[in-house]
Amino acid sequence: MSGLIVSLLWLLLFVGGGIYLAYQRVDLRTSTIAVGIAVLAYWILGDGPVLWKLVLTALYGLMVVPNLIEVRREKIAKPLFEIYRKMLPSMSDTEREALEAGNVWWDGELFSGMPEWDRLMSYPAPKLSDEEQAFMDGPCEELCRMLDDWEISHELADLPKRVWDYIIEKKFFAMIIPKQYGGLEFSAYANSCVLRKIASRNATAGSTIGVPNSLGPAELLLHYGTDEQKQHYLPGLAAGTEIPCFALTSPHAGSDAASLIDSGVICKGDWQGKEITGIRLNWDKRYITLAPVATVLGLAFKLYDPDHLIGDKDEYGITAALIPTDTKGVEVGRRHYPLSIPFQNGPTKGKDVFLPLDCIIGGTEMAGKGWKMLVELLSVGRAISLPSAAAGGGQAASYATGAYAVIRKQFNTSIANFEGVGEALTRIAGNTYIMNAALSVTAGAIDQGEKPSVPSAILKYHCTELGRDVSNDAMDVHGGKGVMMGPKNYLGRAYMATPIAITVEGANILTRSLIIYGQGAIRCHPFVLRELHAAGDEDQDRGLIEFDNALFGHIGYAISNMARSFFLALTHAKFSRVPLNTPTRRYYQNINRYSAAFALASDFAMLTLGGSLKKRELLSARLGDILSSMYLASTVLKQFENQGRRATDLPLVEWSVRTLMYQAQEALHAFLINFPNRWVATVLRLFIFPRGRTYSPPSDEIGARVVALVTTPGESRDRLSELAYTTLEPGNPLGLLQEALELSKEYGPLERRLRQARKEGLIDADYLGQQIDEALKAQVISQAEARSLRDYNEKVLALLGVDDFTSDELARVPAESQTPTPPRKAPRKKTASKKSAPAKRAASRKTASKKKTEKT
Ligand SMILES: Cc1cc2nc3c(=O)[nH]c(=O)nc-3n(C[C@H](O)[C@H](O)[C@H](O)COP(=O)(O)OP(=O)(O)OC[C@H]3O[C@@H](n4cnc5c(N)ncnc54)[C@H](O)[C@@H]3O)c2cc1C
Repeated sequence: MSGLIVSLLWLLLFVGGGIYLAYQRVDLRTSTIAVGIAVLAYWILGDGPVLWKLVLTALYGLMVVPNLIEVRREKIAKPLFEIYRKMLPSMSDTEREALEAGNVWWDGELFSGMPEWDRLMSYPAPKLSDEEQAFMDGPCEELCRMLDDWEISHELADLPKRVWDYIIEKKFFAMIIPKQYGGLEFSAYANSCVLRKIASRNATAGSTIGVPNSLGPAELLLHYGTDEQKQHYLPGLAAGTEIPCFALTSPHAGSDAASLIDSGVICKGDWQGKEITGIRLNWDKRYITLAPVATVLGLAFKLYDPDHLIGDKDEYGITAALIPTDTKGVEVGRRHYPLSIPFQNGPTKGKDVFLPLDCIIGGTEMAGKGWKMLVELLSVGRAISLPSAAAGGGQAASYATGAYAVIRKQFNTSIANFEGVGEALTRIAGNTYIMNAALSVTAGAIDQGEKPSVPSAILKYHCTELGRDVSNDAMDVHGGKGVMMGPKNYLGRAYMATPIAITVEGANILTRSLIIYGQGAIRCHPFVLRELHAAGDEDQDRGLIEFDNALFGHIGYAISNMARSFFLALTHAKFSRVPLNTPTRRYYQNINRYSAAFALASDFAMLTLGGSLKKRELLSARLGDILSSMYLASTVLKQFENQGRRATDLPLVEWSVRTLMYQAQEALHAFLINFPNRWVATVLRLFIFPRGRTYSPPSDEIGARVVALVTTPGESRDRLSELAYTTLEPGNPLGLLQEALELSKEYGPLERRLRQARKEGLIDADYLGQQIDEALKAQVISQAEARSLRDYNEKVLALLGVDDFTSDELARVPAESQTPTPPRKAPRKKTASKKSAPAKRAASRKTASKKKTEKT
């Protein structure tokens, strides 16, 4: 063997072996032994110059030092520990509480750069119990039947009384309340199924039922209430004799809810004829769902104790209390009008409302703990109610639009056959699949005891954004049919409702820019939170030991991610270990690759930008997008397994994962382009994209398979919309559209016969109705066939139809009661003045622009 080849083999041994050890995350001690053996072998067998051997040995020495724990702790970790403690960004209590809320689940695995897929795969597929299934098939189905959107949204601006009564009687408000208090005690998954079904039918009912089952008095009481409070309120909340709401937002404090100025002052006062120590509350809140009809108001305010009646502190911070709305000084009843979706929502005010101390949820022990309570509960609630509303809407939109695009014909063919329409249909179906997967898998994890705060922010943001995309696409495919409001319009109202879900429970721009990654970076990173805690430890010796362990773990983790990111990118992750050998195998590998790249980029961002990363919202948002794409794609793969790996669903799975991972690639690219330290960005690009951006979005061919799936009656189309209200009955567009779709497939051959007859000149007419008459005359079809076709045609025309109204029907105020427009005063004639030429031109321009504005 020539000397060159031998040298190359040694190089391969050291570089390849090093990458292998880092890639596999072999621990430091074992790696040091393995490298030591290789160095020794090189000394004995290698024929390179001694200088090389010495350099190699010196480099090896750098690897040995971290194994000498006492030395490394004193000489390396300690100085860094001192610097780190000084650099530590200050963190407010509210920030710390938000960070510590919930726990770390699959998000932590994705953050690790080496996800342990068995952890996700070991979670059982969520299932409804018999009782929950019976509720879905019984009361939930019946409630959907009772909902008439036009009546609710246009005529009554409220749910009709019979619907309110039914909701209360069947305990729709009590899904999360345990049975011991009279509630239904449903799982998070069942809760999400019920909400998805209702949302597929009506946005007003969906919002009304979503709120009490999410973050509200019941949830707060269950987790933090005293026994007396639970006994006092929960049976009433379960029975529906108490209607809850929760008021946090105020005119000054929206997204920055913790800056609220509503106050509660501890003082002596009169309560039922006796002097007691209580709280005097003043508040001004807005946007509060159910406030206009609430009997019990959950209130967030800042608690003060200037006379030290309950302790030594002057100020306790944000506190939550329950306030009966019939208490003197409480104002509820007025309503906001959220985008013409008339669920009960309105302002509330309180002026010097005096209540005993036991109105504080959890009693005085919980004074000042309100923010912690809210963020803890949001870590679960945010994953259920709004994502369910979006996914339910998506299921309805997929089902309706898939059918509509078949029965609506233009240019003599179904519009579904046009590729442009197909592209929108593909997005509708694919995005719906993603929303369902994310929701079902995450709800299943919650039922297994997880409180995944970062995934719940991911779900809140992405499901509501995907819901908005689906709604936009569905409107486009429906054309004018989606635009013309009236009882026949089944899309317009849901379209109008999309910004509501975008805004509530953390408005989306803020959620993307600050919460997903901002919370995830510290929470899910395997070492950063440990380092922070260590640096903040009052016992410095203990802190140093923990800091040292975390720091060296962190360094090993960063080296490993460099190796993994590079190797996985170079090989397109083809050799990466995955849990299954199925057609979806490559997608697991792709996620492995991006997990390593994300972990690497994330570490460098934190290292070079430190606390200022929080302010670089666009960088932080892009990192959040990558994490979100991986999380959503993982849930798609898990959902595919949970649903029994149905081959017919593969187009949806492929489209979804490809789209998400392509987005991850593009977000990573945009992150690197905008990374402020260009040297670091260049190095990162080398490790992340050594072969460039090679991942492509889903092909048109996959899209065409998705279109076929969503426009053809069958199990995959049904499964995609399995929770939507699709019963065939008058007044339910989804059932009627499905019927028309099935008929269109049945009568397809007949329609083709008519088209052929037209080509041959046997019939002349353009439209099906006339064609049937002519075809019958020309004996192209039989009487029975003509009857069936006419029946089908009538059904289609009814579904394609829109409403029209007289002006009086549309006007809220009848013409005769309108106040007449006062006659206009004739403009006073100005006496001609002698103006300069430019002044005259300016005056004439002004008149022209005024005329134009009036015209507009
Ligand atoms: C229909 C409806 C129902 C509601 N129900 C309730 C309820 O029951 N109880 C309750 O307490 N509240 C409720 N809310 C209030 C809701 O939670 C707030 O509207 C929300 O927190 C946003 O506050 P804001 O509307 O004042 O927007 P603002 O805070 O004024 O925000 C405006 C925009 O700025 C963005 N933004 C703000 N800060 C940042 C930042 N740091 N980085 C990036 N972007 C930022 C936001 O994302 C948003 O896009 C409801 C709201 C609506 C519309």
